[in-house]
Amino acid sequence: MPFIIITIFLCLLIFVFRLRKTKGKIGEKKVAHILNRLPEDQYRIINDLLIRTSSGNTTQIDHIVISEYAIFVIETKNYQGMVYGSEYSEYWTQDIFGNKYQLRNPIIQNHGHIRALKSLLQDYGNIPYISIVAFSRQASLGVTANTPVIYWDQILTIINQFEEKRISHIQVVGIYNKLLESNSDSKETRKEHIRNVRLNEQKRDAAVASGKCPVCGGSLVLRNGKYGTFYGCSNYPRCRYTLKQS
Ligand SMILES: [Zn+2]
Repeated sequence: MPFIIITIFLCLLIFVFRLRKTKGKIGEKKVAHILNRLPEDQYRIINDLLIRTSSGNTTQIDHIVISEYAIFVIETKNYQGMVYGSEYSEYWTQDIFGNKYQLRNPIIQNHGHIRALKSLLQDYGNIPYISIVAFSRQASLGVTANTPVIYWDQILTIINQFEEKRISHIQVVGIYNKLLESNSDSKETRKEHIRNVRLNEQKRDAAVASGKCPVCGGSLVLRNGKYGTFYGCSNYPRCRYTLKQS
């Protein structure tokens, strides 16, 4: 009897895990569809790019829109419930009917993507990168940040705000081709990427557990803020890592 219960429980667990994964993929598809409405002659789009960084790690970027105005780097989230967070905090909170979950701050995630792109495209010099974090309308956003954290249907409005040409047409074509070439889209790289993400999360959790800042290695110190106590990095303001006291 207990065996059956355990089996049912495991199946449920696998099902929920799969569902979360597919939800993310569906979100990426919907956003790709929205981006397709941009005029083809001005905007080049790459969805789901997997690149290797200079340190040998891999990074996955949901959407990149390359234009003469800027390079837009879009992180897509398909979440439900209320989502709270700020520019620099390590975690954001998702609140579904009073059940709270932590998610890694997508602004920081996207900074990592832009860092990888900058290093890959360093020959192109100082080109403007715009970070956009976009949620589905299933979420209600309570985020205070300078980086645009918006809904999917607002992405084009943000992109259209950039009207000043700052990248040449030749550069746009060059960047587009370079990124396509760099896409390490094989099953093995995808698997390796997922393994690395988990490993990095474990490393960060281990650092936090030992009272160390996972970003710079400084010590975590308890501080008082507007909204109560939290852990901050001893290297503030150089490092803005924060962690909510739990
Ligand atoms: Zn730090």
